[in-house]
This record gives sequence, structure tokens and C-alpha cells, in this order.
Amino acid sequence: MDEATVRKRVEKVSSMERIKTNVDKETGDNIRNMELDGVKVDEDFKRYYPYNELASKVLGFTGGDNQGIIGLEVKYEEYLKGKNGTILTTTDARGVELNGVAEDRVEPVAGNTLQISLDYNIQMYAQQMAEKVMEEKQADKVGILLMNPQNGEILAMASYPTYDLNDTRNPESMYGSRMVEQVTNANGYYEIKKTNTIIDENVVASMDETQMYVNLDYLWKNFCITDTYEPGSTAKPFTVAAALEQGAVSQNTSFECTGVLEVGGYPIKCHAQGHMSLENSIATSCNVTMMKIAQLMGKEDFCKFQNIFNFGLKTNIDLAGEARTASLIYTPDKMGPTDLATNSFGQNFNVTMIEMITGFCSLVNGGYYYEPHVVNKITNASGATVKNIEPRVLKQTVSESTSALIRQYCKAVVEYGTGTSARPPGYKLGGKTGTAETIDPMTNRRSENEYVVSFIGAVPADNPQVAIYVVVDRVNADKQDNARFATKITRDILMEALPYLNIFMTEPLTDEEKAELDALQQDITNQYIQTPEDGEGADPDNPEGGSQDNPEGGEEADPDNPEGGEQGGPDNPEGGEDGQNAPWMDYPIDDETGYRVGPDGRQYDAQTGVPVEGGESVPNPDLPLNPGLTGAG
Ligand SMILES: [Zn+2]
Repeated sequence: MDEATVRKRVEKVSSMERIKTNVDKETGDNIRNMELDGVKVDEDFKRYYPYNELASKVLGFTGGDNQGIIGLEVKYEEYLKGKNGTILTTTDARGVELNGVAEDRVEPVAGNTLQISLDYNIQMYAQQMAEKVMEEKQADKVGILLMNPQNGEILAMASYPTYDLNDTRNPESMYGSRMVEQVTNANGYYEIKKTNTIIDENVVASMDETQMYVNLDYLWKNFCITDTYEPGSTAKPFTVAAALEQGAVSQNTSFECTGVLEVGGYPIKCHAQGHMSLENSIATSCNVTMMKIAQLMGKEDFCKFQNIFNFGLKTNIDLAGEARTASLIYTPDKMGPTDLATNSFGQNFNVTMIEMITGFCSLVNGGYYYEPHVVNKITNASGATVKNIEPRVLKQTVSESTSALIRQYCKAVVEYGTGTSARPPGYKLGGKTGTAETIDPMTNRRSENEYVVSFIGAVPADNPQVAIYVVVDRVNADKQDNARFATKITRDILMEALPYLNIFMTEPLTDEEKAELDALQQDITNQYIQTPEDGEGADPDNPEGGSQDNPEGGEEADPDNPEGGEQGGPDNPEGGEDGQNAPWMDYPIDDETGYRVGPDGRQYDAQTGVPVEGGESVPNPDLPLNPGLTGAG
């Protein structure tokens, strides 16, 4: 602050004038020690966040005057901020405090406490995993969401890059990220565009104040609710669910895919070919089947269901900053035949992560669309409940019978389709992989080498208790369109989270999986292990020992189940249905990738024969783009 401003405030005649808030302790002590007439240093405090980076984007932080800037701090500001204390002093006519006269002090009232649904441990797993992927693969961004599909509670919401809540303006948090710039678009609105400049020390040094703010602001954003992108093939269960619900197809409908379908004069390709039941079309991620289904539905009904699934609308999650997506989806009057076709397999419309997982939960939980939320309860300083947040069903998206079919199809994805690598040992997981080419901000054309890869799923597949959604944006690898980047994260997180949530294993384990779990279990157990004295002799009787064994109890049970059954399971229905004594079985396995390689160089999953590279998404840069999306980075 400059001297003139301070002088003006100090000399102003009033009983009380606030000069500056949120001064640090050292400055405050210095001023206090000067014992200036009429100048008082009031006790103020800056909020301290004990978990630093953990869930920083969900919690948000406060600015000057302890006002929330982003996250929960904004949405629940009224409940959190408490009441400022006041000090009433006796002053003379000129506003100068009289010495030795009693002062009345009104103590500040502490703010309320939010009890949130985020689970500390699961949030940790998710955040560590996001960080690891970012470091290893150098993706642009990673977002991870876990949600309870039975009530809409968010269990974990992590994204990377992130920042420390106690050091929000530290530019080092941005190192390695692409710089963004603020541009004015054709409609005169500010818009954020990614550049190809990677932020480092020198770039930071060259930024002016606005650039710094724009980039910090971008860093602070919560990817899971503020960023929009094309969902890709994770949208396919929605397309099939809509068609089943509307009656355009039944569970017995099947299609033929020859690898290409011409729509509106454009050939649109597909890597998964052959006879497609609805289950096969989801499991192998067939684009042609989706396009044919959407044509049967027609654009009016297709768009109606986009709306029912809440695409283009806010979920109303209790966090500030949820993106508007209304202009990023189609209305029937603006939708041409190729738009309908590309929308059917998740391209040419944008979503947020929170939109996708909330919609997906309704597809697999019997059709109930729960309002997603992070806060369960608000209590006051003495612990009494100020407000309870009950789960809210906002609408029914599909019937239970459609939901049951989608659960079955999603289970097939993980049993024998494109998502086998997502399955955590011991569990039945249902889900869908996704890859979508990004739109190059420089050319406004679909990029042929930059992808968003993802996996969305729920477990146990037949009665979902946990939903998970992992999105990896523009991973820096040769084969970016490999959904394994996302399925691997899914598997790793669920392996930790499911036993922790007391969701018991139901599936037999292979020896390999047992060894893997043993190694991990050892690790987990080690954290709680008792000292030798305690453990000695007490082990078999100790009830605590018993509870530690719980997850293992599940394991123990599997010898009862013939293991051969599990091995045969995924192969049997496939072999029967597709008559596959398939050619891929004879293709040699490439040591480096572990994939089988066909004579044409195409890669196939060694166990399932599902085409790996580009199995879901074949870029066609000539296809017309949704005008709402161009320019969005
Ligand atoms: Zn196909």
C-alpha cells in the first residue's frame, strides 16, 4: 500500500477505519510494538489448509477478507465464514482511543464445519495415481472421479496438475503444463486457448501480470467439473440405452459391420467388424452399429435422450465453477446426418467429467439420476447439525430392464472386450473404454495424433456400489489412442479402494493375481501391523487380526470355486457366438507390447483378440465439426 492511501485512512475522522486485512503475523507484531495512538492490530487469521494439495481443487481457497474464491469455499461461503468479531472502544471526539478506558470486545464466531463425502484414503489413491501418470506419461491433464452410484456422493475427485492450498500462487505448480492465453472470440467473449509453449522458469519470468493470472486461474480450475471434451466411445452405452428405451432396437437386434458406413457423403470407418449383437457392439466398441442405431432412432429422439441424460445441462453439483455445455451439444434443427452419426459414438459434442459419471451411474443403477454432491452435512462449532444433505433423485433416465441390459453389456467390455485390462483381481467390473481425437486449436481440424483416452465403469458389475471415471488428456506417447492408459489407472485405484471400502471379492483369482495382491496386501497390512509384543501369541485369537483378514477371507474362499471356470468364462461365450477359432490366435506376440500382430501390422489383444490400436476411433479430419466445439482447446 502506498503512504498516501494509508495516511488518508489513518487520518480520517471516524470511530473505526479498517486499513488492511490479512496482514501477516510479523507485520502485525511490528505495528503493535510501535504502540501508535489510535492504531490497533486486530486479531485476524488466514485460513490454513492442513492437507495442502489433497483435494485442493474441490475445497478451494479464500482470498482477502477470507472470501471463497473457488471450490466449496464459494458454494458454502455463507456457512463457512463465521462472524467477524468486533472490538468496541471508547474514543474521543476525534476518534482517538482513550487510554485506560474499558473496551468491550465481541468475540468472533467460528464458521460451521462441512462434513464432506470425499474419502481421505481414496482421494489419496486417486491423486497419487494422477500424479504418477502425469510424471510418467507427461499427459496434458488427468482427471479421476469416484462416486457412489446409489446416492450421488463423490468419493474422490482428483485432477492433475494441481497446487498447494497454502501456496496457491506458486508458479512452479505450472511447470511442465502448456501455457494458455486469453483471446477474444468471434462473439466478443473471452476464451482460453492452449498454446504449444510448455511452462518453465523462463516462461514464467516472461509472463506479464495478466498472463500470470490467466495461467494460475487455469491451474486452479477443477478439471472434473470445468473442462469440456468429447467423450468418445464412453458415450456408446448411452446411445444403446436410449435406443432400447425408445424401442428403436430390442435386446435381440443385431447388425452387420463391414468396417465402414457412408453417411452424408462421408465414409466413416470402424475397426471392429463382423456380426454385432448389442452386447458385441459395446464390448468391441463398434462405430457402425452406433451409427445405424442412431439412424433408426432419428435425430429428434436422439437429441431428446441427450437431454434426458443431462448432456448440455449442469448437474448442479455443490461446487462452484461447473461448465456450461448447452452450446456444445446439438439440437435437432442444427443436426445433419453426419452429426447424428458422429454423436452416436461420442464425437462432436462436449461433456464434463461430472456430467458423464452422473449419467453413467443412472444407466447402471436402475435408471436413477442422483444429484452429485460433496457435502453430506453441515455442523456448527459445538457439533450440532445445521443442515443434512439427503440424496436427491432428480429423474429416471431409463427403466430397470434397460439398465440391466447396459450392466450386462458393460460387463462384457471388461470380460472379453476392449476393457479387460481395467479389471481388478477378484471383482466383476462393468464399464466402457473411450478414445477421441482432440480438435487442434491451431487448425480447427480433428487431430490425427492427439487423443483423450478414458474408462468409465462401475463395480460390482451386477450391483454397482462404486463408479469410477478416468480421463487422460493428450498423453505424450506414440500410441496415444490406447485406452490402456486409462484402464491401468482404473485397475490400480480399484485394487486399493475396493477392499478398503469392504466390498468383498466374488471372483476366483489366478496365481498371478494372488501374488500381486499378496504383495499389495502386505503393504497395506504393514501400515496397521502391531508391534511384535502385541502380536505375539495373540494372533489367532485377536479379533483385530480377524478383521485384517477380511479381504483375505474373500481370497480364501476361491479354492471352492473351480478356477478353470473363470478362465473359460470369457472365452466360451465369445468362441460360441462368433465362431472364432479366430485367425488372430495364430498371430505372433510382439515382445515389446505384448500384443499379437497380424500380417497387416494391426495389433490385437493377446488374450481376447480385440484390435488394440485405433480399435475405437478412426480419425477422419474431413468430417464436418460441430461449430460449437471449434476453438475450444
Ligand atoms: Zn464396427
